[in-house]
Amino acid sequence: MPEKMSIVRNQFRPSRRQFMVGASTLVLPGWLASCSPSAVADIVMLGGEIHTVDAANRRVEALAIAGGKVFATGTNKEMERFIGANTRRVDLGGRTVLPGINDSHLHLLIWGLSQPPFSIDLTYPTVQSIADVVAAVGQVAATKPAGEWIVGRGWDQPYFSERRAPTAADLDAVTPDHPVALTDFSGHAIWANSRAMAIAGIGADTVPPAGGVIVRDADGNATGELFEGAGWLLREKIPLPTVAQKTAAITVAMQRMLARGITSATDPRLDPPDIELFNEIAAGSSTQKMRMNGLLGAGVTAVTLREALDSLQQISLPNPAWMQITGVKIMGDGIPTGNKTAWLNEPYEGGGNGSLLVHGETDEERVAELTAMINMIHAEGLQIGTHATGDRTIDTVVAAYQAAQKANPRIDPRHYLIHADMVSEETLATMAAEGIGANFNPEIKYLIADSQVQSIGPLRAAREWPFNSALAAGVQVASSSDAPVTQGNWLQGLATCVERKGKQSGEVSGPEQRITLDQAIRTYTATPAWQDHAEDYKGSLEAGKVADLCVLDERLSAADPSSFAGIKVAMALVDGSVVHDAGL
Ligand SMILES: [Zn+2]
Repeated sequence: MPEKMSIVRNQFRPSRRQFMVGASTLVLPGWLASCSPSAVADIVMLGGEIHTVDAANRRVEALAIAGGKVFATGTNKEMERFIGANTRRVDLGGRTVLPGINDSHLHLLIWGLSQPPFSIDLTYPTVQSIADVVAAVGQVAATKPAGEWIVGRGWDQPYFSERRAPTAADLDAVTPDHPVALTDFSGHAIWANSRAMAIAGIGADTVPPAGGVIVRDADGNATGELFEGAGWLLREKIPLPTVAQKTAAITVAMQRMLARGITSATDPRLDPPDIELFNEIAAGSSTQKMRMNGLLGAGVTAVTLREALDSLQQISLPNPAWMQITGVKIMGDGIPTGNKTAWLNEPYEGGGNGSLLVHGETDEERVAELTAMINMIHAEGLQIGTHATGDRTIDTVVAAYQAAQKANPRIDPRHYLIHADMVSEETLATMAAEGIGANFNPEIKYLIADSQVQSIGPLRAAREWPFNSALAAGVQVASSSDAPVTQGNWLQGLATCVERKGKQSGEVSGPEQRITLDQAIRTYTATPAWQDHAEDYKGSLEAGKVADLCVLDERLSAADPSSFAGIKVAMALVDGSVVHDAGL
């Protein structure tokens, strides 16, 4: 095994011994009374509701930080003794402190590039109709040289006041001279104008790649909507962002996420040049203060996967506390929304079962390809995160993880399902037994809870993302935004975990799947650290762990969950340094 790969495989884990090396700074509760009276903290926070997210979900009122780590937690009186002449004292006034939020599935680079000035913001309520979108595109077209691409992101058809699908003709009126590609909120659909489709060669006879859909009218003409792989026919014609643009996008995205208290994230599906870029940014870590974890993108065949794995061998990650690669992402299927591209056991409302997105002519061939890819990554000693939303895909992936582990047993590989919307009770039991994690998306639940009834019916829509069942079964459940699918407002996600209200109707969707506030907080902190193989040093506020934390401007346990989304983040700390301070 080449030396460089060992960095990728053996994730950064400051050993217990490393913590001990800073021996004088490590204080365990219990020997506080006997510890050196000269111990002085850098920061002491007093009078708060501090969720430690330790094994017992202990809440304390005070916390001391020294040398970038949590030094001790306890009562105000216990922590006051660590205040010295140079200690910063923070009076919390009853406010909530959480471990730094770990958004465990966040396309940070793509999110950055999907924000202005790189892309037009088409999210609701910025735009509320097709007419709004056309107006926004028209405005940009007026300032751009003819022929240059116009891109936007975030539209969501159920929120259009016109109550119909968008078309190329809508855009053609304002963009006769510019190709336009507008990605929807989910990233699984593109709305293009005629100029863009002409450049991509999409016409009446174009056959989309497997699993892809070119939406057509009664005469067989493409209407302008492209789903899944069909979107790539067009995407590959759009000039790639430059390294400078990507660097700017990552830097701005990190700043914006830190201001929301998000201190760690997993960016899935990175290619080797992007991994290098994150690595370079991490190397200048005086400016980077967000801990990044990445998954390598696998492509859609065992051949593209092999190439990706080989290219990973060339990469050295010397600063894994700030940038590490734990594994590989496979794209299993699509999504069970109106696109109907998730692969289901029982048909959608109105018919169709969807399919896998990996290479293959038949279901059998695609299952074989997916299984081969899983075996290959498992044999490399890497973690696997597979995008699997439909129950049939989920069952297929879990069976393949199980078989790979049986054939080639590894200690605690922590493979997981990304999304896992429609996971069954039976499969949850298997996942718990096998140590397979689930990465759920409460913010997407909030967004689509109401509209899902049309595509999968009321029972399946209500059960989508069964948090309570998964936790009761003993599955490791992490929550994530999947930004830019949502906008990374984890406080909304927290509210959805405990309330499960739909954004459009405000009605509760699947009340039996609601979970407690403590459970919900854990899905954004300790369990994502588990997913990162990093629970030894982050994810909870316990002595010896890194001082990554998030101070809210309110007391969470006293707030109405329906108001969580509006709570401000007062402070964020990473490695004991203040990276966001809105003032208390
Ligand atoms: Zn994603």
